[in-house]
Amino acid sequence: VATAFGGGVRLKDRGGPASGKAVVGVPVPSRVIIHLSQHAGTPALPLVKPGDPVKIGTKIAEADGLVSAPVHASVSGRVRSIVDHPHPAGSSGAAIEIESDGRQQWVDLTGWRDLTSADPETVLGGVKQAGVVGLGGAAFPSHVKLAAARAAGVDTVILNGAECEPYLAADHRIMVENAAGVAEGLRVLVRILDARAGIIAVGRDKPDAVSCLRQAVKDDAGLGVKELRGRYPQGAEKLLVKTITGKEVPSGGLPTDVGCLVHNVGTSVAIHEAVKFGRPLVNRVVTVVGAAGGGNFRVPIGTPASHLVGFAGGEAGSGQALVLGGPMTGAFRATADVPIVKGTTGVILLPVGGGREPEPGPCIRCGRCVDCCPMGLMPNQIVRFVEKGRIDLAGEYGLADCIECGVCAYVCPSKIRHVYILRRGKAAAGVERETGR
Ligand code: SF4
Ligand code: SF4
Repeated sequence: VATAFGGGVRLKDRGGPASGKAVVGVPVPSRVIIHLSQHAGTPALPLVKPGDPVKIGTKIAEADGLVSAPVHASVSGRVRSIVDHPHPAGSSGAAIEIESDGRQQWVDLTGWRDLTSADPETVLGGVKQAGVVGLGGAAFPSHVKLAAARAAGVDTVILNGAECEPYLAADHRIMVENAAGVAEGLRVLVRILDARAGIIAVGRDKPDAVSCLRQAVKDDAGLGVKELRGRYPQGAEKLLVKTITGKEVPSGGLPTDVGCLVHNVGTSVAIHEAVKFGRPLVNRVVTVVGAAGGGNFRVPIGTPASHLVGFAGGEAGSGQALVLGGPMTGAFRATADVPIVKGTTGVILLPVGGGREPEPGPCIRCGRCVDCCPMGLMPNQIVRFVEKGRIDLAGEYGLADCIECGVCAYVCPSKIRHVYILRRGKAAAGVERETGR
């Protein structure tokens, strides 16, 4: 059992009501709203217009630029409109609205059933064409990450099964119910990167997942499973690399700087399905928690959160607000009129005024945020500089190294909204948002 970083917090209520509940398919919604911005980077460019018929897997938007990914229809039916729609991450953006015909017809799929005959470039092309992005929440296009890893040279592939935020249980269920798919994806990654080792890192609070995965990789000499202590934010990729390999990712650097590539366990399954069966990423597993409902659900991308929550047994009407993602890093939305995107790990229902966002008070210089920051930063100072518009000083204090874990806000007695301010600072500094989960 391993952990190798200072700071962080031990969170209560790790499990939550969705823990241990098998993944259930959500009934097809009558319409889906599929955002063109499903990923980190540039939004995709639409390839369809109102009235066009689509099947599941029809490419409806093409990647635009180097960091982008194509988008596919998640239901069969007809394109109704291309509209500006609220986005789960905040604000709004262009989305393709599709009316379902209920037939659930797929396009014809072509994959490489014998993966040993597919060369690395072909595999990378398959991952790109399938629109696979990081499913741990950051939604960074996987083919871009893999191409960079191939160029840099990687000796260790780490699959992230830490799932260390409270309540979330989707990755846990994927590891238990589809350990073989997780392992197959890892084999693909190790092979195309010519890596020495592939390690699946799993929180030790998931012993059933550990045992299923050990069984799935027992015949592969280069693959293994490692247990992690349940300390938050163990799932942040730089901390994971340190825990698993002992190597420190340099300030401003990436895991590839120390010979590692980190992918989420769900992404591993999506990569395997993309390459072996040619199946695009059109659905994902989402944990729903709150208002008497809860569980883990396989959801077509673009499904309205209200449809999902209703099926889960909750009520997403007036008087309810949502957190899209986990309680530490998710985005608070005052409406259930947002669709599921590729990066949506969870939907947490809260009563309006349920205490998630109390009014912040002044900093009392208690130092708790400094003691607990897993990156060794001084969040109080960085926040102060961002608030004063001194982005240069915030940068000198390590703004770019912040992994947006939310620990500082969690421990702050004054309820200061550190992450919100830090993200604003990063935007002002032109620093990339954190993509390593
Ligand atoms: S400053 Fe960044 S890395 Fe440090 S605790 Fe806050 S959110 Fe996490
Ligand atoms: S935890 Fe909050 S109150 Fe304490 S030093 Fe940090 S910002 Fe200030």
